[in-house]
Amino acid sequence: MHLNVETLALINGGQALVLALLLWFGTRNGSNNAVQGLRMRATALLIEACGDFILAFDFKLSSLTVLLVGNTFNLSAQALTIVALRIVLNRTLRWREAIALGVAGWLGVTYFATVHPDYLLRVLWGSVFLSCNAALNIAALWGGCSKRDTRAQCLLLWAYLLAVALLVWRNVTLWTAVTPPQGIGAPTVVNVVYVFLLGMQPLMASVGFLLLYNEILQRELHDLARIDPLTGVTNRLGLLEASETLLARARSRREPIGVLLIDADHFKSINDRFGHDDGDRVLLELVYSIRRMLRTGDLVGRVGGEEFLVLSPSVKEADLLALAERIRNAVERTSFHIAGQAYTLTVSIGAAIADPGELDMMGARRRADTALYEAKRAGRNCVMISATA
Ligand code: GH3
Ligand code: MG
Ligand code: MG
Repeated sequence: MHLNVETLALINGGQALVLALLLWFGTRNGSNNAVQGLRMRATALLIEACGDFILAFDFKLSSLTVLLVGNTFNLSAQALTIVALRIVLNRTLRWREAIALGVAGWLGVTYFATVHPDYLLRVLWGSVFLSCNAALNIAALWGGCSKRDTRAQCLLLWAYLLAVALLVWRNVTLWTAVTPPQGIGAPTVVNVVYVFLLGMQPLMASVGFLLLYNEILQRELHDLARIDPLTGVTNRLGLLEASETLLARARSRREPIGVLLIDADHFKSINDRFGHDDGDRVLLELVYSIRRMLRTGDLVGRVGGEEFLVLSPSVKEADLLALAERIRNAVERTSFHIAGQAYTLTVSIGAAIADPGELDMMGARRRADTALYEAKRAGRNCVMISATA
């Protein structure tokens, strides 16, 4: 088997060009972060393809010019890829680090190819550059990688870690060889693995980007389906799922869950007097007042119109009543601003305790509903609790 740099560059360049075009056409619609990151990755691939074609065909340029220009393109593509990944992941961009790395890589490779020609040092320098490059990407991928819905992120992180391991392996075998090879052409095991993976690198990295993009879109869709667009709190579906999780946890710990059903009093009159848009703004302020009173671990969701549900794990009846009273009091003391005027609003609250032995939250939810109805009948702006199941 004979391996040479020109063939490798040609394979890489052709791949990068096709992938760049695919990514460009595939991301024509859309403007979110992930799409912008993919477009930047496509630009990086185009630049990489230019660098590779210069290295492969040399265009009758001197070998020094080919090396300098080819490396300029390729190292710029690496810097852009670092930033592209950070855009997709919504992280700080780190332009300065990416460019500094690219320049250092370029200077080192040029130095060890021209001023002080030394193949081993050139490989070592290139490997350190690529490892730092991978380290920046690993740092971006690290956060949140252990979660179940970040599999692509973890996969990419492992790919970068393995790439660093391969670079270490390659250098160790080069530096410990009795007669180290003076080029990539020597068909040793490490060289074959290295050349194969290097040849596939544009494809593998692009597939990684696409998997990541898909994962981010899925996560966004999942969240969108569970968030109330007006108030930003959990919607019915989110509440349903969260209550199952909370109930399962409560069952294993044998602890009760507190349920509060909060309904704004005479809300219709606000809409009638000031219009629906101002009514919406009041709803937002109302949610803010409720949220301020919650403990960590409590969850608030919108069950409909001007009605909100609070789930409060591990509370006894007295604590739940105290929480409800705090919320009622906070809303009563808040000045809601409508059309430049301060306006007061009150809420009625129905409370119930879900026993860990209950099969689902429906029973407690019904009891809280009955208690809410009683609070309304008792004249509103008050808290009522239902008898336990
Ligand atoms: P009560 O004290 O008996 O609860 O009286 P109420 O007027 O609050 O109760 P009712 O259920 O009769 O009316 C609720 C009103 O909430 C009706 C509707 O116009 C308003 N509403 C429901 N959803 C929204 C919304 O998303 N935005 C706005 N601005 N108003 C909403
Ligand atoms: Mg109401
Ligand atoms: Mg209502």
